[in-house]
Amino acid sequence: MTDASRPRSVDFHCHLDLYPDHEKAVAQRERECIFTLAVTTTPRAWPRNHELAKDTRHVRAALGLHPQLIADHAHELSLWKELLPRTRYVGEVGLDAGPRFYKSLDKQKSVFEEILKACATERDKILSIHSVRATKAVLDMIESNLPPKHGRVVLHWFTGTPSEARRAIDMGCYFSINASMLTSEKRVQLVRSLPADRVLTETDGPFTEQVDRPERPSNVDAVLAGLAKIYGKSSSEVMHGIENNLKALLSDD
Ligand code: MN
Repeated sequence: MTDASRPRSVDFHCHLDLYPDHEKAVAQRERECIFTLAVTTTPRAWPRNHELAKDTRHVRAALGLHPQLIADHAHELSLWKELLPRTRYVGEVGLDAGPRFYKSLDKQKSVFEEILKACATERDKILSIHSVRATKAVLDMIESNLPPKHGRVVLHWFTGTPSEARRAIDMGCYFSINASMLTSEKRVQLVRSLPADRVLTETDGPFTEQVDRPERPSNVDAVLAGLAKIYGKSSSEVMHGIENNLKALLSDD
């Protein structure tokens, strides 16, 4: 990366279109040199996200179909498929087996399977994946439908067990870490167990938003500081590693 295109920080999962002023949120990320994967919850939101992001150096629009919306939006899978060739980035997709969404789990699985298969066919996609209470099912489905050479997976807000984390690492997955993942000793231990070269940072804004400045996408500095503490390094050393991880994830080979 040339100096001008080097990010100051990385937010690999953020809902910029759910902030009160979407356009301003994109402009702010660009101005502050925060590499941001702007995930979407429905493919209908992607064209506008793409339009705002396409001429920026640091913002990318990902094509999503959120598992929590599948009960009412499964029919949007056809639009999702139609738009897929236009982007390298996919998200937010995945499974949510939490109590509020359990009823649609079968439908979620059939949509997610089609999403993974479509990505496998195109071979160049990078996916940001949601796996609430469904880590095993998500990993099973990735394993059977998206071979490692056919796509790259970033597990967003991972909450699986240590053995599921090892399995995901063996499958080549990356992990995007947010501040909520550093709030208990158990979670910190899990994050510490992840290989440092598979770690990215994220905010999942506005969902993890602190109350102080809800109008402004939260920054990832708190996550960087948390990781610095875990690794016994400075925030800038950690950022250097994350920048390399991002480069590896986005590389063509
Ligand atoms: Mn999200």
